[in-house]
Amino acid sequence: MTFDPSDVFDRIEARREELVALTRDLVRIPTTNPPGENYTDCARLLGDRLGARGFDVSYVRAEGSVGDSDRYPRSNIIARWESGRPGPTVHFNSHIDVVEVGAGWQHDPFAATVVDGRIYGRGTCDMKGGLAASVIAVESLIEQCPDLIGSLEISGTADEETGGYGGVAYLCEKGWFARDRVDHVIIPEPLNKDRVCLGHRGVWWAEIETHGRIAHGSMPFLGDSAIRHMSAVLSTFESELFPRLQEKRTTMPVVPDGAKESTMNINSVHGGLGEGFDGLPAALVADSCRMVIDRRFLIEEDLHEVKNEVRGLLESLRDQRPGFDYTIRDLFEVVPTMTERDAPVASTVAAAIESVLNKPADFVVSPGTYDQKHIDRIGLLKDCVAYGPGILDLAHQPDEYIEIEDMVESAKVMALSAHGLLHANG
Ligand SMILES: [Zn+2]
Repeated sequence: MTFDPSDVFDRIEARREELVALTRDLVRIPTTNPPGENYTDCARLLGDRLGARGFDVSYVRAEGSVGDSDRYPRSNIIARWESGRPGPTVHFNSHIDVVEVGAGWQHDPFAATVVDGRIYGRGTCDMKGGLAASVIAVESLIEQCPDLIGSLEISGTADEETGGYGGVAYLCEKGWFARDRVDHVIIPEPLNKDRVCLGHRGVWWAEIETHGRIAHGSMPFLGDSAIRHMSAVLSTFESELFPRLQEKRTTMPVVPDGAKESTMNINSVHGGLGEGFDGLPAALVADSCRMVIDRRFLIEEDLHEVKNEVRGLLESLRDQRPGFDYTIRDLFEVVPTMTERDAPVASTVAAAIESVLNKPADFVVSPGTYDQKHIDRIGLLKDCVAYGPGILDLAHQPDEYIEIEDMVESAKVMALSAHGLLHANG
């Protein structure tokens, strides 16, 4: 049977209200993480729906993963549809968790209110709108093309917002994302409907602690202030490290433009007496000061060199500054990943964008990481991109929303992409 894309597009258009209803149903389940609320209810919503449409549904609890408990089980769902004709598998992976609501909302964050063609609510953009679009895309394609070859999978996974260890990382370790069962992965994160996201920069988090000697605050010369030592670290970063980072620019197409440079955020500095007590503080010289750094690095940089750059500055302070002593502790690290533009999934999604939107796709790289890191490094699946509706800048913001039209158009792109990948490789 010849495939006419306009037939599947018509089918998706006809299901616009269903797409809105599914998104609203998903958003109304507050899957706030941390702590990881209501994952099981959200997974069941997807599993019941897809099971009724002929998918083979598996629920996988990431037992023993960080945060998993009977009160907050790390529930994941994988639904698989097999055509009965052997061929490749296209997998759509979405995280079901959302970040906390925060202040400043005009709309009820879990009512999923529809206003002027938009759905408002926590998780509409990041990324329940993309999840719903992938469900409608896959269901419409299966209805339209009974002669498909290969398999289609949809997963809803936990904990992406806190590193993905109770979600995609766990599923990778258990073989759900592996070359013998999945060929192409599309992650409907909100990167905008006309962009293919090839990967992300790297991350290194570390805690630096400076050490001092406690003394009475009226006689600071008898002690040694860890906070003053930390201020020396900060001024060395200002004068030496930050200018160096600004000079490192990547050829990765990272958006926004500022993230084409290496960056480092100082997440926190804590020193001296603890906070949160009433009354006056005690007169003490601080014997400890801790700083957490969040260094984002480029595919051209080596993680080892990234760490040594910071350690080298701390070592030179140890040589130059009397009494300076420090420890540094790694907290978290992810190396950069980037799928080639001409890889099957990247080029197929780009071609689908062009035919749905009548404009060439942009290839981008995300400034921060997402679950592609686990699919790449643990699952060893290299044919993976992120593609989904929604404006990246709205993620995690108050009054987060998704444009209904963007969901419909990206569902068309997803259906066309899945069709292309299943047939081109068959
Ligand atoms: Zn997300």
